[in-house]
Amino acid sequence: MTPTISTLLYLIAGICFIMALRGLSSAQSSRSGNLYGICGMVIAILTTLLSPAVAKYSGIMGGIAIGGAIGAFIAKKIEMTALPQLVAAFHSLVGLAAVFVAGAALYNPGAFGIGELKAIYTVSLVEMSIGTIIGAITFSGSIVAFGKLQGLISGKPLIFCKQHLLNAFLGLVLVGLVVLFAMHQQHSIFWIMTAVSLLLGVLLILPIGGADMPVVISMLNSYSGWAAAGIGFTLNNHLLLITGALVGASGAILSYIMCKGMNRSIINVILGGFGTDSSTTSAVAPETSDKPVKQASAADAARILGKAKSVIIVPGYGMAVAQAQHALREMADLLTANGAKVRYAIHPVAGRMPGHMNVLLAEANVSYDSVLELDEINDDFSSTDVAFVIGANDITNPAAKNNSASPIYGMPILDVENAKTVLFVKRSLASGYAGVDNELFYRKNTSMVLGDAKKVCEELVKAIKG
Ligand code: NDP
Repeated sequence: MTPTISTLLYLIAGICFIMALRGLSSAQSSRSGNLYGICGMVIAILTTLLSPAVAKYSGIMGGIAIGGAIGAFIAKKIEMTALPQLVAAFHSLVGLAAVFVAGAALYNPGAFGIGELKAIYTVSLVEMSIGTIIGAITFSGSIVAFGKLQGLISGKPLIFCKQHLLNAFLGLVLVGLVVLFAMHQQHSIFWIMTAVSLLLGVLLILPIGGADMPVVISMLNSYSGWAAAGIGFTLNNHLLLITGALVGASGAILSYIMCKGMNRSIINVILGGFGTDSSTTSAVAPETSDKPVKQASAADAARILGKAKSVIIVPGYGMAVAQAQHALREMADLLTANGAKVRYAIHPVAGRMPGHMNVLLAEANVSYDSVLELDEINDDFSSTDVAFVIGANDITNPAAKNNSASPIYGMPILDVENAKTVLFVKRSLASGYAGVDNELFYRKNTSMVLGDAKKVCEELVKAIKG
């Protein structure tokens, strides 16, 4: 295949990826978005395989077979609730791949057309360094993010004194190492640069608290894109450049949107350590709190819902864990048939990944028109009879508005408290992901319907039918 044809095909693949991103921007078009992505990837892989630079197919085919089998296995097995850590793990691989490709180019520059051993073009050395630094930061940062999300490392911000100064110092060291590497081309400098970047990746993510992990995942996604783009320059590969820039830019935009959604500073995210500091405390441990709590049985809740003219359902992580979306939809259908106006309110970080709730509700065939974002529906709680909060906690917690010491302070919340009645469906009074007690549980207009979300919904369906 001539270079012109392969460039053209890479361009077509790039267009497919742009269409994929466009499709994935809304639940309605996400299937077609996925299809565009698959087509783009098939074109990209075939074009690369047919390139004259490929001398032997055995290694590549072996890699595709093993990697493809592992990917298919994981995709089949993975629980929806574990997707964020899977995404973090996948990002780490992109970062590691960038480091390996740069290493291969360093040891065999001729094969990459970037000069000869010890006589690599300066511009290629700089590109290689940038790809390696971002790749290594992405790798170690993603491993830490994986550990935090999986519960292997504490989700609490790990902070020590002069952390930002140390990060800034390491940043300067990296700049110095890039200059030295470009001047002397020594392999040892390359590996020192990689080690310092790995350390920086760890230090950037460690101080970030659990509640802020969604933004971190999205930021690491962006970093992995920039690492790929950097390596695209080294390899002079247009497709890597296009896709790397697409992933980098879309990840950065998503991070920005999420930062806005959580009232965080994007600069702090990029620099690391934007979470809470160690002095911030969560509220009283919920289980030890002796405040009175109003409980309701499923039958009580069914009576309240049966009388409601308007209901807003607020789903959260617990709905995903319990896989309650189908029973929930059945319940909502009954209420609608009963004459109530039923809508769903989606918080940008509900669940454990962006769009988590939208995917589950779409799976249960909930109509897109009744699913509204925080900005669209938040003012309506005050004119709503029942806010039905199912497996959600942090995203409703007023501490985000009125407790500046809270780890979630500044995050916009769904104002469920303004509804006439708030029904909380969860198993206990335990806190959510951020580990913060929710004062709403003790409010007069709140009733706790304790139990597994799916079971409670099934009981509600029975009771409403009855
Ligand atoms: P939370 O984690 O705040 O609360 C979920 C609640 O669900 C828990 O309090 C738990 O209470 C309850 N629950 C768990 N299992 C069940 C079950 N089987 N049946 C009923 N209830 C159950 O979730 P939210 O969705 O409200 O908020 C999301 C949180 O996750 C935010 O802090 C966000 O920052 C964070 N996050 C979000 C990501 C994203 O991209 N969306 C990624 C990573 C973190 P109990 O144990 O009493 O049942």
